[in-house]
Amino acid sequence: MDAATFEDVVGAVRRLIRDEVIPREQEIEDTDRIPDAVRKHAAAMGLFGYALPEEYGGLGLTMPEDVHLAFEFGYTTAAFRSLFGTNNGIAGQVIAKFGTPEQKERFLPGLCAGESIASFALTEIDAGSDPSGLRTTGRREGDGWVIDGQKRFITNAPLADLFVVFARTDPKATGGRGISAFVVDASAPGVTVGPKDRKMGQSGAWTAEVAFDGVHVADDRLVGGEPGTGYAKAMIVLARGRVHIAAICVGQAQRILDESVAYAAEAKQGGRAIGDYQLVQAMLAESQAELMAGRSMCVDAAARYQSGEGIAVGPSAAKLFCAEMVGRVADRGVQVHGGLGYMREIAVERFYRDVRLFRIYEGTSEIQKLVIGRSLVAEAKKRAAARNA
Ligand SMILES: Cc1cc2nc3c(=O)[nH]c(=O)nc-3n(C[C@H](O)[C@H](O)[C@H](O)COP(=O)(O)OP(=O)(O)OC[C@H]3O[C@@H](n4cnc5c(N)ncnc54)[C@H](O)[C@@H]3O)c2cc1C
Repeated sequence: MDAATFEDVVGAVRRLIRDEVIPREQEIEDTDRIPDAVRKHAAAMGLFGYALPEEYGGLGLTMPEDVHLAFEFGYTTAAFRSLFGTNNGIAGQVIAKFGTPEQKERFLPGLCAGESIASFALTEIDAGSDPSGLRTTGRREGDGWVIDGQKRFITNAPLADLFVVFARTDPKATGGRGISAFVVDASAPGVTVGPKDRKMGQSGAWTAEVAFDGVHVADDRLVGGEPGTGYAKAMIVLARGRVHIAAICVGQAQRILDESVAYAAEAKQGGRAIGDYQLVQAMLAESQAELMAGRSMCVDAAARYQSGEGIAVGPSAAKLFCAEMVGRVADRGVQVHGGLGYMREIAVERFYRDVRLFRIYEGTSEIQKLVIGRSLVAEAKKRAAARNA
């Protein structure tokens, strides 16, 4: 997208968030749903397909553009981006990057228009941080497949029209081998979505368990038409998602800091604004410095991801730092607000709960460390082998 048009998109998103979402944050928290008017407006602006290809009706934003938009999305309740996050991210990207031309033609226009919602169904009991241990199976039957298994914590499952489901199709293969990705209709016989999970935060963003009980799918639902390559597909889209989530954390940190600075400038103790006290200033300063570091990391990781130079270390390092950073910023935000920061209906209290999730999903902080460490050592071994050859 050219720079001028992209700036228009950013401006429109900023206005939507400031004018329509932020004023309704408490309503979203209390009702646990994004208002229909906000969903409609987001769909009309193309946000359900902002990262999907233009030829299917998406805005086709690049990774660096995605990051800039995510800084804006992060400025309000994370439930807002979650509504269209799976279409643009983990679920939609599997189809956009790896689907056959027919699969893209069939599924992407509806996702881009916001007429359908796709969920990414990978995680299972005992297969979260290490999803290669998944037990869902895809069994060949006639000219199609039968899927059996149970997924949990699936974002947007209660709203989903489609599930991108990962299942083991080669029972003899172990680890990441022999896993395939399928696009399954939520309405297919044998698909059951459980009740909405009751979560710590991010009210308005829904997750649930999904059971696949003898679900028949035709061969044309196998993503890319090639069995056994699903795990690699999942890992590639998760890496992309990590850069996006890191940028959402930056947006959230900016909002928490802005709330905290405004409060510190106005609230008084001892006849002076609490922001006049240097220990309060120190909390704000630490958050500002960390926030700027996180923002730069996201921009750098996005550029390297886009060029193909960094698809492992960069995304994981950005996600690790920014998810941990926003936790510290939220903690200081509560502290700056004193007792008020512990009260419901104060924004920083809500953000404090909401941001806790970022250290867990799309790879926990521990898993990001493993990815970074493993990649660095693997690269060093390669260099050593080349030197010694
Ligand atoms: C709100 C929410 C939304 C989600 N949305 C989706 C979704 O849309 N689709 C989807 O497929 N999944 C989704 N998830 C699942 C999420 O990705 C997993 O919860 C996450 O990857 C962690 O897996 P787990 O819950 O099984 O925890 P575990 O993997 O059991 O982790 C427990 C602890 O053990 C640590 N640990 C595990 N393995 C190692 C290791 N090898 N080395 C060091 N430490 C380790 C972890 O870091 C963590 O501290 C969502 C989760 C939540 C809470």
